[in-house]
Amino acid sequence: MDKKNIDWANIGFGYVQTDKRFVSNFKDGKWDDGQLTDDATVVISECAGVLQYAQTCFEGMKAYTTEDGRVVVFRPDLNAKRMEDSAKRLEMPVFPQDRFVKAIEETVKANLAYVPPYGSGATLYIRPYMFGSSSVIGVKPAEEYQFRVFTTPVGPYFKGGAKPITIKVSDFDRAAPHGTGHIKAGLNYAMSLHAIVTAHAEGFDENMYLDAATRTKVEETGGANFIFVTKDNTVVTPKSNSILPSITRRSLMYVAEHYLGLKVEEREVYFDEVKDFAECGLCGTAAVISPVGKINDHGKEICFPSGMEEMGPITKKLYDTLTGIQMGRIEAPEGWIYEIK
Ligand SMILES: *Cc1c(COP(=O)(O)O)cnc(C)c1O
Repeated sequence: MDKKNIDWANIGFGYVQTDKRFVSNFKDGKWDDGQLTDDATVVISECAGVLQYAQTCFEGMKAYTTEDGRVVVFRPDLNAKRMEDSAKRLEMPVFPQDRFVKAIEETVKANLAYVPPYGSGATLYIRPYMFGSSSVIGVKPAEEYQFRVFTTPVGPYFKGGAKPITIKVSDFDRAAPHGTGHIKAGLNYAMSLHAIVTAHAEGFDENMYLDAATRTKVEETGGANFIFVTKDNTVVTPKSNSILPSITRRSLMYVAEHYLGLKVEEREVYFDEVKDFAECGLCGTAAVISPVGKINDHGKEICFPSGMEEMGPITKKLYDTLTGIQMGRIEAPEGWIYEIK
């Protein structure tokens, strides 16, 4: 397979159109067979459910080239399950999980020339999504939907090493109890934009959201879950019904326990205890782990002992082990690596 002539190390994280995308339509109560298409545009009614009432959800994952030259996707079955949960909560039809995984495979296969080579640090980002396509004016679910999968090559998340970031405790809320924080709905991102633009303007990289009801417990950022490491090397992650269940975070907790032999806890984390942790990181598909060096709580700074120069030692081990599994350098647990053949 000839690769496209792309400067893999410098493509950044933006949309680059690739050759093919998968499209399936839901009409008269059922999904059609779906197909790959060259057409990168979507034409829908001016009154489509997605345009009026934001009836849309999405997923995100990556295809990698392993050390021995295979193209693989990391745990796509979990993305399929999560998209089912998102669809149900938004009154959208479920795209069957087995067909979801097949659609990912077909789309990656059709764009193999865009899967960055091993060692480039770049990956092929995969974006499945679904939206209400038929017209809706009274507030109700659409009758027709479209499910699509496109891919876009993305550059290394960290150029020249993973520098710890500074985040702020936000005065905005991300998700309400019993709301939609646990699903990957576009609306969660629309309403987070003001908070992140504000945080950036103030010189911070990200927001730490606290629980909306009491503002005492740590939830997550706009697009990544937290992991903390205690001074005696226990890996802790917040538990809450309004956190999006990150596949990276769930995988890291497994790696911590079963590969690194560390104690792990998924429990409520009070903001008051954050100052006592040794390390802090943000986890998600994009970066795997982004180390946090400093948290600003309304002018009061929490500085982690790992500092602002490099990842903390446990964070680094977690990062190296999970990326090693993804790139085929370390043996994966059963079912984690889905090979595109
Ligand atoms: C997608 C997402 C994450 C990360 O999930 P991964 O499955 O690890 O990519 C975390 N938080 C939010 C709010 C998200 O939307």
